[in-house]
Amino acid sequence: MPVPELAPGLRRPGKIICVGRNYRAHAEEMDNPVPERPLVFQKPVSSAIGPGGPIELPAESDEVEYEAEIGVVIGRRLTRADEDEAAAAVAGFTCVNDVTARDLQRTEDQWARAKGFDTFCPVGPRLRAFRDPDAWRELEVRCRVNGEERQVGRAADMAFGVPTLLAYISRAITLEPGDLVATGTPSGVGPLRDGDEVEVEVSGVGVLRNPVREREAAGS
Ligand code: ZN
Repeated sequence: MPVPELAPGLRRPGKIICVGRNYRAHAEEMDNPVPERPLVFQKPVSSAIGPGGPIELPAESDEVEYEAEIGVVIGRRLTRADEDEAAAAVAGFTCVNDVTARDLQRTEDQWARAKGFDTFCPVGPRLRAFRDPDAWRELEVRCRVNGEERQVGRAADMAFGVPTLLAYISRAITLEPGDLVATGTPSGVGPLRDGDEVEVEVSGVGVLRNPVREREAAGS
């Protein structure tokens, strides 16, 4: 049975919606254009872990990478919302690591496996609410591996901002309280290896820290 809370005050979401290629420099480093509309995909809720939980490297991939992202937690149900309704429905922000098996992402048209292995969605360490619905514009996201900075991104540089993303998603998929939206990663993605410690920091929110280790062989 999965634990109902990932961290104090941060419930396990009903669903995890992600946005790809939402920062120009990251799209370019992957040789992709920034899309004309948000590129939306999902991670299974079974991939979510809390702060301190180990990210397990599966035998099926030789190229597991971190993606530091600003996470938005939904506070109020959103169906076909406009941007003002969407902005007002945000419960708060958290840190997300959209861990990705890059080799599988490259070779499989659907990203369900590449993005969906168990432990591939660290979330936390807490939910931070802001009174100002425009506060997201000031957020910065960083990634460090073993204390070394690898990514820095500013929400203001997103191709599609938070209200636009939520309104767009809600036209297809009703967002429920507790659902998590990961808003895309800035440039600088890179590998995770056995024994690493990876940190995702969102300014004013906190630091999400997870160790990385090989997954133990089945049956052991
Ligand atoms: Zn991502």
